[in-house]
Amino acid sequence: MAPGTAEFGFELLVCRWAESAWPPGSHEDTDESGAASPPARAREDAVLVARQLGTQERRWDTVVLECDPAGLAARARFGERELDSDLLHVVRNAPEEWAWYRDALPHPGYPWRYVRAAVHRAAGRGVVEKRRRGNRIEIRRVAPYPDWLRRIVAIENKPDLDASAARALSAQLEHDVETGLADEVWVATEATGDRIEPALLEDLPVDVGIVALSFDGGDDAASPAGPHVRTDASVEWYPTEVTPPDADRDEERRRRRLELAERAYGRGWRSYHETMRPDCRHFELRRVGRALVPHCAAKERSQTAAECAGSCPDFEPEPPAWRTRGWPIEGGPGKGIKRLLAGRREWIRDREREQERTDERE
Ligand code: SF4
Repeated sequence: MAPGTAEFGFELLVCRWAESAWPPGSHEDTDESGAASPPARAREDAVLVARQLGTQERRWDTVVLECDPAGLAARARFGERELDSDLLHVVRNAPEEWAWYRDALPHPGYPWRYVRAAVHRAAGRGVVEKRRRGNRIEIRRVAPYPDWLRRIVAIENKPDLDASAARALSAQLEHDVETGLADEVWVATEATGDRIEPALLEDLPVDVGIVALSFDGGDDAASPAGPHVRTDASVEWYPTEVTPPDADRDEERRRRRLELAERAYGRGWRSYHETMRPDCRHFELRRVGRALVPHCAAKERSQTAAECAGSCPDFEPEPPAWRTRGWPIEGGPGKGIKRLLAGRREWIRDREREQERTDERE
């Protein structure tokens, strides 16, 4: 069972599973219609996972970036924070040799003064160099911006996927398939022990994959640290790649995907501590398998991200006495939780980069 009934807890477990086990494993059966299953894909890409990202029209629960390992390692030269669209315009087009920024950069389609502000911001972050020549600002790149993104996979999380949930989801999923901004679309659900009903499959677009996850152990706090609590994934239906045929020539699609990927790179999926209240005395992190999931001691369950806010009727600030170690510089347990989650995000990025260095040595 996923912790509590909150979809939020399920979403975090899906993110953790994807981070450690993407792509979903081999599947040697034939499906109900008798069609052969696709061959298993080995993990050749570096994988980054984020949550609640998308466009103005559509927000995805979980986003998996499949990245070129060398490109991802080179992306690190531009820092840990995301590059927004204005910074990307500067960084991607910055020249190898010094040049006036208006000569070097393509016209952005909006006034140059905004580009000039972005140039100053980019230089302040060390992602381009700038100098002043007379009354002109010149720029030079610090490194070529790498081609690090290979594929985007969108996952809709629906722990209780019954026929009415499938029908409610189908329009959104059709939109994902038709727009083709992601290369692959999945629904993740919680395994029930039964096979997914063929009738339920009929309510979902045929291009969308379905993976059923089971979590042994639940959110039992007494579980001894849970390393033997397992997440098992069973692919019930494989997706079809929905990348448009002219994707290579579509610069607008490439730009939108890169902006999305940059947001995913900067935020990861553990940034929920920035909107929730880990400084509340009831906020806990509990281990479920290899994931850490928020738990509310006051509500005695996994709380949702929306209810864990200053407006929560059970909110109580952590007592000052908790903060005595290192306080006020390092703060109490709440700040410790934030450091822990930020540290894990860093660790994952380092791990993917280290994998690239290992591959190079072999
Ligand atoms: S009491 Fe409210 S604010 Fe505190 S941890 Fe629980 S849900 Fe979050």
